[in-house]
Amino acid sequence: MHIDIKLSNRIGIFSDIHGNLHALDAVLQYYDAAGITDLICCGDIVGYGAFPNECVERMRERNILCVAGNHDFAALNKVDITYFNPVAKRALYWTREQLTKSNLEYLEALPLTLISEDALFVHASPRHPEQWNYIITMSDARQNFRHFGQRMCFLGHSHTPFIVQFRSDDETLSCVDRQIIKLQDSHRYLFNVGSLGQPRDCDKDACFAILDRDAGSVEIRRVSYDVTAAQQAIRDANLPGELADRLMLGM
Ligand code: ZN
Repeated sequence: MHIDIKLSNRIGIFSDIHGNLHALDAVLQYYDAAGITDLICCGDIVGYGAFPNECVERMRERNILCVAGNHDFAALNKVDITYFNPVAKRALYWTREQLTKSNLEYLEALPLTLISEDALFVHASPRHPEQWNYIITMSDARQNFRHFGQRMCFLGHSHTPFIVQFRSDDETLSCVDRQIIKLQDSHRYLFNVGSLGQPRDCDKDACFAILDRDAGSVEIRRVSYDVTAAQQAIRDANLPGELADRLMLGM
């Protein structure tokens, strides 16, 4: 299932909140201050962190458009979790117990993809959104460019931001090692917007993106938040301590 959407010219895009309300509120505050009101979440609102209900409620209160992530569907028993590691499993069982009926219904209704005129939004991969495959190598990226027709695809899932550009005339692919990129007519793009609530690229700050169609740019940004408070909440909830430790390490 996918849903067509209309968007304004400046959009905030983020992914992988994972129940980290402290990080989410810091990023929402940033968007508010920047006057960015159209927001899209590329999935995994819940799992790992101590505030699954509160994070889902932020999405609902603010009408943030959202696609489903594997942890969101796992909370509904809709995906096989045998491949989840023991820590992820424990967090998932805890999350299932916490979520209210109405928040579970909200997660149940999430589409796998959202499509606007020039962009596709998905959690893991445009090729098989329901299989939760990672895009790690350039060969993964190349295959996936064949599976969306829009100029841009935004996703998350690996918790590591990247920008890959595909030059349409000679079909060359390259990684862009910058935080901000000017969009070129000759190229198409794959953006991993990183993780808002559990970054794994050795930077503990919340990661998110801004698409500015007026400026013709996409920016991957970081904002600091109260990591210690998020860690304390994880420990207070009796979730595995590793989930608290990794937030400070950004991995
Ligand atoms: Zn995730």
